[in-house]
Amino acid sequence: MTNLTIAKFGGTSVADHQAMLRCANIIKNDHSNRVVVVSASSGVTNYLVRLAQANVSSQEQAQLISNIKTIQLNISQHLENKAEINDEILTVLAGLTQLASAQAQQYNAQKTDAILACGEQMSSILFSDVLTSIGIASEYFDVREVMQTNSLYGKAVVDIEALKANCAANLQEKLINKVIVTQGFIGRDGLGHTTTLGRGGSDYSAALLAEALNADKLAIWTDVVGIFTTDPRITAQARAIPEISFGEAAEMATFGAKILHPATLIPAMRHNIPVFVGSSKEPEKGGTQIQQQVASNPTFRSIALRKEQTLVTVKSPAMLHASGFLAQVFSILAKHELSVDLITTSEISVALTFDNPAGSTQSLITNAVVKELEQLCEVSVEHGLSLVAVIGNNLHTTKGISRSIFDSIGDVNVRMICHGASANNFCFLVPEIEANSVVEQLHEALF
Ligand code: ADP
Ligand code: ASP
Ligand code: MG
Repeated sequence: MTNLTIAKFGGTSVADHQAMLRCANIIKNDHSNRVVVVSASSGVTNYLVRLAQANVSSQEQAQLISNIKTIQLNISQHLENKAEINDEILTVLAGLTQLASAQAQQYNAQKTDAILACGEQMSSILFSDVLTSIGIASEYFDVREVMQTNSLYGKAVVDIEALKANCAANLQEKLINKVIVTQGFIGRDGLGHTTTLGRGGSDYSAALLAEALNADKLAIWTDVVGIFTTDPRITAQARAIPEISFGEAAEMATFGAKILHPATLIPAMRHNIPVFVGSSKEPEKGGTQIQQQVASNPTFRSIALRKEQTLVTVKSPAMLHASGFLAQVFSILAKHELSVDLITTSEISVALTFDNPAGSTQSLITNAVVKELEQLCEVSVEHGLSLVAVIGNNLHTTKGISRSIFDSIGDVNVRMICHGASANNFCFLVPEIEANSVVEQLHEALF
């Protein structure tokens, strides 16, 4: 299909009927938009996350489901065929109530994903009808028909080849006559169970669909007018970036810029699909173009911040001039499926950082991990740290980078520094309580 855009709308963009109407008009104004990927309406996934926990009383359960119902029915009440749509929403909510009661009795990771998926299911039902209401022929499509994953509930891995084959067989043809509305964030494993791709995963779903359907463009519609020099919630000085390279934007996403799920740009880069990021509230203001080649490659492009980092230091005199120590440490971490983020070493000790994904309720570094590491070496675990990443170009070969950075942040205890492995980033750990002000000061100095 020629000139195909995949449009993804985030939670605030589909929060209520008015917001959905704005998005529907974006679709109407550009006929290349043939596939719409939606997140759950704003707030719904957070309620679902709570609902999926084991210690929820039946009273709280009823309250959470009622909150979700209110958000969704407030949207359907504006629709012409609201009786029919309400039935569909109430069916999802009935399933949800059943799942939640089973979960309260016994926590189950597979059921958690089935619970979390309800948000995207409902918003996509509603959005498809909003499109119809403004005269666009649209069709609801269950993305689980194509988004095949493994069974790693909560962070399932998509089978990209299967996705491509499934799209060719079950989806491609549908785009010719109708705008397809489908869900981000969710998939299905080989056992037929619903899975999820991790919080914020709808961006990644949309990118995967763009790749699988050979799209010409991926448009991520959100609540800000593009990618900014830093999170605009941290400083009002942050400004939108008109154009940014894949490499820089990928570093931003990886190092915590919530605007894009960290994996979003992987399929886009693999297939060289330009990505646009803009505001569904103010589409006329333009946004950010992310692509392979950009006109300017400034030394400093942006600052990203990732909170809730855990620093683990392992120390062993036996490491001095010895070989194989790091391999042993890493094999323990791999056994516990822990992914190391940053690493620095000295003669007899190694410092490693781990990212606690947003919303996780317990530390990744469990007592079992510590105990196993302690068989090898001394172990210390520190929490309450944030990772600040300065993103730019040629940072590893430009003189005076560290002076520009550290002169601007005052007397902060910089706990760890990583520089040199990437041309696009320079990052360091600081105490969480000082992180926002560090970013503010850095931003003031570098931009
Ligand atoms: P959506 O629900 O549309 O996926 P998100 O809340 O996940 O939206 O992402 C958008 C938010 O990302 C913005 O409101 C902003 O606060 C935050 N953000 C973090 N870093 C940046 C950045 N560098 N540029 C723009 N927004 C950013
Ligand atoms: N609804 C999911 C979440 O809130 C996925 C997404 O919005 O991208 O994490
Ligand atoms: Mg998001």
